[in-house]
Amino acid sequence: MSTQKGNSSRTRPQKHKNQTAFKNTLHDTSNRTKIINNLEVADVCSRCKEIIEWKIKYKKYKPLTQQKKCVSCEQRNIKQAYHVMCIGCGIKLGKCTKCCQEKEVVSVTVNKIPFRLDREMRFKLKALPERRRRTFKRYMEKKEKDELTNDELKEDLLNKLEALKVEDKDEDDDFDFDLSEEDLSYSEHEDECN
Ligand SMILES: [Zn+2]
Ligand SMILES: [Zn+2]
Repeated sequence: MSTQKGNSSRTRPQKHKNQTAFKNTLHDTSNRTKIINNLEVADVCSRCKEIIEWKIKYKKYKPLTQQKKCVSCEQRNIKQAYHVMCIGCGIKLGKCTKCCQEKEVVSVTVNKIPFRLDREMRFKLKALPERRRRTFKRYMEKKEKDELTNDELKEDLLNKLEALKVEDKDEDDDFDFDLSEEDLSYSEHEDECN
């Protein structure tokens, strides 16, 4: 009998079976969804992380429209939806920033694997003149402080390396905010030749 309840030894296969795993970008490729999908849930305990990630996956996630007040320091400094405590207080008190329990939290800001230039990048960097290498290193130091994932950082730095390389071939570059004596005399010399 097909309507029989609690029959665990059913041999008939499930009638409606999903052919593919649920994918929230199937009908929605908007930027908003993309940004939400790329969110890295951190500074919360693993249970809260799961809850938030579930919301992201099933499109229940609602980003904050403005920063929220921290329940501990009462400053309006929470950027992440569903968090009730700011990251600073979470770290200080050793608590999850969502459920506020004293639990071990998943953290990207603290436990992030340090970024290293890979072979391709080192090769590209080596090919640059010294002054540009310094420009790149300064840029990299600045960028490392941004809240980027290593993948994002890598992409950004690769673009920068490319930009430095291309500009090198141009007759002039306008990003030269740190011309050294040597550079100036070099360009003067060039002018004389023309
Ligand atoms: Zn706080
Ligand atoms: Zn929690």
